[in-house]
Amino acid sequence: MKKTKKSPANSIQDLQFFGEFGGVNPSIADSSTFTYLAGKTMGDVFEGNREGCYLYSRHTNPSTCYLGQAIAQMEGVKGAILSASGMGAITSTILQLCNTDDEIISSRTIYGGTYAFMKNYLQKFNIKTTFVNTTDLTQIEDAITDKTKVIYCETMSNPLLEVSDIQAISKVAKKNGVKLVVDNTFTPMIFSPAKMGADVVVHSLTKFINGTSDTVGGIICADEEFICELIDVNSGSAMLLGPVMDSMRAASILKNIRTLHLRMKKHSENAQYLAEKFQADGLRVIYPGLQNHPQYEMMKNSMNAGFGFGGMLVIDIKTKEKANELMEEMQHNNLGYLAVSLGFYKTLFSSPGLSTSSEIPENERDEMGLSDGLVRISIGLDNDIERTYESMSASMKKVGVL
Ligand code: PLP
Repeated sequence: MKKTKKSPANSIQDLQFFGEFGGVNPSIADSSTFTYLAGKTMGDVFEGNREGCYLYSRHTNPSTCYLGQAIAQMEGVKGAILSASGMGAITSTILQLCNTDDEIISSRTIYGGTYAFMKNYLQKFNIKTTFVNTTDLTQIEDAITDKTKVIYCETMSNPLLEVSDIQAISKVAKKNGVKLVVDNTFTPMIFSPAKMGADVVVHSLTKFINGTSDTVGGIICADEEFICELIDVNSGSAMLLGPVMDSMRAASILKNIRTLHLRMKKHSENAQYLAEKFQADGLRVIYPGLQNHPQYEMMKNSMNAGFGFGGMLVIDIKTKEKANELMEEMQHNNLGYLAVSLGFYKTLFSSPGLSTSSEIPENERDEMGLSDGLVRISIGLDNDIERTYESMSASMKKVGVL
């Protein structure tokens, strides 16, 4: 295959894995443990003196390695380690990078579980997190102290769809000797944060990357040195906390990732269409592909071309009562499901203030504009989006928001 510029989609296309009997998909390694012909070899592997052998599936497994390799190539990094959930990836990364009394600077608009981990759980270790608006570099710079170890943000934040300037933040991180950890769950293919300067990229595979809402999963992508630290048998959090992914799940996600580029294009195309339509109808719409989005220009100039602005859309319905009424009506009309999560082939909608962001205290939600009337919509792969628009506006008219 001719070597052209490696887009994330080309990296996935160029994967060439064979199954044990020449299968076009790699065989599933359905074993938790692996045999050795010589006891000495086992000892050497355990002590890290010999590579290329599998020992025990909490360490590594051929099936998880295939998927790890695929996503590492997509993100343009040398190493990756899978986990059983996105939270498994995030918590292992943070616990590896931070020690007692260290500090984190995090975006204030992040997934509620990540927020709760940083704000509450890390208190056990006296690790303090300062939450700032990471779209404002001065807020990050002002928050840095000599205890800061990590700057953390989501490329596109959940649920407010703020887009952080990874290139600019990475310069601040490097200048201050701090690691930049980026959650790229909302924008696989669209952004390649490691190529933009992030030290560690995490994903919840539960969402777009898998795309079929049938499993949870996560991954940590980084250079080989950090991945080796994470799986060190004496001190690695991905090894000792045990957040491993099962080989069956890894094999099924690997098949789904082959169509990720097509799915991301279609999710984005549909979301862009609906965002423009609903904005023209006079609704308050948050979508990074709209020119009035504060980070529209920055995103346009820094994203990978051809995958659009993503499949997530937020509409402000003003009150939680109306938001619930609308979502119930849309589900009744088979426009999608009233469900948390995202990246599914059918549309999913939820009210983040009442669900996935409810861990964030009300006053902080008010401050960042995360009101109870926001409806977060993960736009599906609908073939005829004009028909979807007609049906969605009929639902909106019925409940009186249009
Ligand atoms: N990161 C983001 C941006 C998310 O939206 C979520 C879940 O919604 C997570 C991480 C956590 O992932 P998981 O549910 O796979 O643990």
